Amino acid sequence: MTSVKRASVSSILSSDEIARPSVEEALDAVRTLIRWAGDNPDREGLLETPDRVVRAYGEWFSGYEEDPAQVLSKTFEETNGYDEMVVLRNMRFTSFCEHHMAPIIGKAHVGYLPARRVVGISKLARLVDVYARRLQIQEKMTAQIADTISEILEPKGVGVVVEAAHQCMTTRGVDKPGSTLTTSRMTGAFRTDPSTRREFLAALASPSPSQSFSA
Ligand SMILES: [Zn+2]
Repeated sequence: MTSVKRASVSSILSSDEIARPSVEEALDAVRTLIRWAGDNPDREGLLETPDRVVRAYGEWFSGYEEDPAQVLSKTFEETNGYDEMVVLRNMRFTSFCEHHMAPIIGKAHVGYLPARRVVGISKLARLVDVYARRLQIQEKMTAQIADTISEILEPKGVGVVVEAAHQCMTTRGVDKPGSTLTTSRMTGAFRTDPSTRREFLAALASPSPSQSFSA
């Protein structure tokens, strides 16, 4: 067996660090898992399945192809002195737990207090996906999102809250449907200044405009 080593957090995952299997090997692995589940990969309904699974993996795990630092590289300094908190919440994501490869489905909320630079808000959403589309544990993903924003934007502080349901827990094992896990990482003023922390948490708790507009 070859051990697959991936680089950690912010370094880009270059292809020569990983012994990537061929597509044919990946297809065979899916056929093996179908047999392991107790079915026959050669029956008609399953013939195209390995191909679909391998292509789905390309989407679910596309985060390995992206450099998180690069996502935030384009920043804006022309902000007319804007120095209040920026909060983007309810970013839905799909990830996969690294212990069972079962889906983790949830929402990420990100806030930061700009020092000089701000970033386009779509980049924050992309950053969440870059880390979500990897094998993850929620605690690590939460820290990675916060630490990357902290390193690249050098803001006065960052707050990240992630809430998610883990299908390895809600559909099997302890089998607790409806349970969700909340994790958070606060840095800088979000950690040290109680009023900043309060402002962030209050922003997450307030009804979203889409809710009030649709009422
Ligand atoms: Zn799990």
